[in-house]
Amino acid sequence: MSFDFHAEPSQADDFIPGAAPAAAQADSGFEKLGLAPEILKSIRHAGYPAPTDVQARAVPVALTGADLLVSSQTGSGKTAAFVWPALQRILTARLDPAKKRAKGQPSGPRVLVLAPTRELALQVSRACTQYGYGVQGLRVAHVVGGVPYHAQLKALRSPLDVLIATPGRLLDLMNTGAAVLAQVELLVLDEADRMLDMGFIDDITTIAQALPTQRQTLMFSATFAGNVGGLARELTREPQRIAVDTHTDTHTQIEQRLHWADSLHHKHALLEQLLADRAVEQAVVFTSTQRDADELAWKLGEIGHSVAALHGGMPQGRRNRVLQGLRQRQLRVLVATDVAARGIDVPTISHVINYGLPMKAEDYVHRIGRTGRAGRTGLAITLAERRDVGMIRRIERFTTQPIAAAVVPGLEPKAPPPQERPAFRPGDRRGAPPRGGGRPAGKSFGAPRGPHGSREGGHGKPAGPRRGGYSR
Ligand code: AMP
Repeated sequence: MSFDFHAEPSQADDFIPGAAPAAAQADSGFEKLGLAPEILKSIRHAGYPAPTDVQARAVPVALTGADLLVSSQTGSGKTAAFVWPALQRILTARLDPAKKRAKGQPSGPRVLVLAPTRELALQVSRACTQYGYGVQGLRVAHVVGGVPYHAQLKALRSPLDVLIATPGRLLDLMNTGAAVLAQVELLVLDEADRMLDMGFIDDITTIAQALPTQRQTLMFSATFAGNVGGLARELTREPQRIAVDTHTDTHTQIEQRLHWADSLHHKHALLEQLLADRAVEQAVVFTSTQRDADELAWKLGEIGHSVAALHGGMPQGRRNRVLQGLRQRQLRVLVATDVAARGIDVPTISHVINYGLPMKAEDYVHRIGRTGRAGRTGLAITLAERRDVGMIRRIERFTTQPIAAAVVPGLEPKAPPPQERPAFRPGDRRGAPPRGGGRPAGKSFGAPRGPHGSREGGHGKPAGPRRGGYSR
């Protein structure tokens, strides 16, 4: 099955597996949000018991047409918080004679969603189809990098309600005149911080300049500090701010554990033991590099796991098939890198295992957010060698929570756990982790490692040409 683009009327069959159809209670709180009956019907179909915090706070404001800056973590139900108001806008526009679309004329999207990665774009597209189940003839398309242009060009020639795009590919399509955005009334930036991390700031600004100035803008981001704040000031008008939950929240539905390993060999033994546990329904194992993901997936496959790798170096078609295998539970273990795993929303992922540490503390939060989704609980386990202590402490400072150390009986580390250090205060190097994240001198943590061993994502603009990489 190809996910190259999607532009078809929604159907109930498109519901994400795992969203059990059950009647929402009349007093569930959804009725108070101000949503149209067509949207409430799809929420009933999804079986959600009540709006999440971000939904309860963002939806009513978004429905007023105000610009919004929302800080909320992945797994909080943020996608629905912008998809529901987007669908409402489409329903309202259909009733407005002034906005009636003339037959035979190109009808560009009314809603544009920009997302950092292909996977997240597909996720949003699926959410539109799921929640648009009650919206007659809803037309949704997504244009993402790494796949041929043909199907996307065809989708853009058809009338559209919602277009979801990664910035690079959209800009390419705008430059050739294929993507016409003159009718966009609502712009959504999903995971804006991540888009900026990936070097998309200029692309986003150029895209925004091509949109009508009379529009609503909703920005979702883990943080609005630094460049994201600057972009928010540029793109929004008198925005309202909603901070729902942040990286310092306790993630009560996710238990976090830390296992110290004496060596790579010890770490591997711990991983094998952890994956042998029957409590692991499905697990995402994170590695630091694409090459590590391939190698580890191969090793785990050799010992009988149903496993696949997922990383940005794989062709999009293969990535889609892997994700489908995960959703359909043909795969029990996914070995992934940060960029590729962003946006994965599979409620049956019971465990996240950090085999290679993330490059940035905030990636840790995104990683563990792959589990404990849709009202379930999850376990996030980090395997660290002593040299990783600097990164572990950075994560703990970022989340403001210690990660409890644990042991696997029979595989206890021989070396004592690294010493606790006094809390780090800015300007005070005494309490700070060793420079270079505790890594041996001369080895820069996070430095590019060549085409296969390279880390994905990263600070600022990617070093190499972006075309073909990331989300074009
Ligand atoms: P998100 O934060 O948008 O990535 O969504 C996280 C997960 O929460 C998705 O699997 C949604 O299907 C699910 N979800 C969204 N809204 C609700 C709700 N009100 N109650 C329960 N689950 C929800």
